Amino acid sequence: MNPQPLPAPRRRAREVKLGPLILGGDQPIRVQSMTANDTADPDATVEQINALAEAGCEIVRLTVDTPKAARALPDIRRRTAVPLVADIHYNHRLALEAAPYVDKIRINPGNIGALENVKAVVARANEFDLPIRIGVNQGSLEREIGLKYGAHLLDNVLLPPEEGYPAEALVESALRNVEILEGFGFERIIISVKSSNVPLMVRAYRLLAEACDYPLHLGVTEAGTKDNSNIKSSIGIGALLLDGIGDTLRVSIAARATEEKIEEVRTGYKILQALGLRRFGVEVVSCPTCGREDQGFDTTRIALQLEELNSHLTRPIKLAVMGCYVNGPGEAADADLGVVASGKTAKIYRSGRLIQTQVPFEEVVDRMSELIRQIDREQREEITPVPT
Ligand code: SF4
Repeated sequence: MNPQPLPAPRRRAREVKLGPLILGGDQPIRVQSMTANDTADPDATVEQINALAEAGCEIVRLTVDTPKAARALPDIRRRTAVPLVADIHYNHRLALEAAPYVDKIRINPGNIGALENVKAVVARANEFDLPIRIGVNQGSLEREIGLKYGAHLLDNVLLPPEEGYPAEALVESALRNVEILEGFGFERIIISVKSSNVPLMVRAYRLLAEACDYPLHLGVTEAGTKDNSNIKSSIGIGALLLDGIGDTLRVSIAARATEEKIEEVRTGYKILQALGLRRFGVEVVSCPTCGREDQGFDTTRIALQLEELNSHLTRPIKLAVMGCYVNGPGEAADADLGVVASGKTAKIYRSGRLIQTQVPFEEVVDRMSELIRQIDREQREEITPVPT
């Protein structure tokens, strides 16, 4: 019997509208990120939102943590086009203020307070046709659920059990809050059950995917700085996507600078790209190099330069950079554009067809860049839709 192909068939989540986008169903798995500025500073926030959007970010979340931050939202909304999400903790009144200027509200059930608060947020979400994400987080479970799953109180602070919460605790919190929203007749729900513990997070999402049909927002929370986060996110989010689970994702990197936040977006697309779920921007396939690499051809440098020079492109182009003729033509045939070292010069292929020979090694980056620009131009003229 043939093994099940991966990724597995996509879990069929119900469709939920988020501004101009739809999450769930067979809609593209959307890549999102979050600003790291003080939202009360609209100039810095707008600059970061627009930079993220330009890098391909499809949904941008921003914290609304103070009345001043809420008051900055009209200005931020006016100067940005990407769907915005207000991230709300503790003070539900900030969600009420934010609602007219955002496309989604995220609440953390562990700290939003009384049922009346949730009811007020639901009424406001209905008024502006917004979805609500129930964002459960391992670090801030409701007290009652925490105690049920082994936490204890120290000076009125909930301390998780030494071995950590089981995935069931996160799922119970999520489903309980789904029931609360449904009890108010509200069903435009998106759910996340994030943890910094990758196996725990994977198990929680798997359980949740079985238990309901709402769209799921995937993420490993507090995943750390870039390298750590890239590995944890790739494993955690990747494992779920391979199961067919997930409708939107966020890679969380501990970083404040805009360029580093953009890395969240790039990594998100790279995860989807690696699984064949979406194509976005320049993807470089390059050999790892070995003793056979043709002398004078620097595979690594060429691959890095092509990645860097073309990191602004959003339409999908697959490149191959191969250090010798052994696997070169085979990989190049599978790419939109491939360069293969072949003795003392290189060969360039376009969609498997040899289009340039005798290319001096020092001209490879320029020639490839020119061809990349040409392909990008052609795609624009054909009005290739930006990635789905
Ligand atoms: S393509 Fe050639 S240089 Fe690159 S790893 Fe394979 S054998 Fe080595």
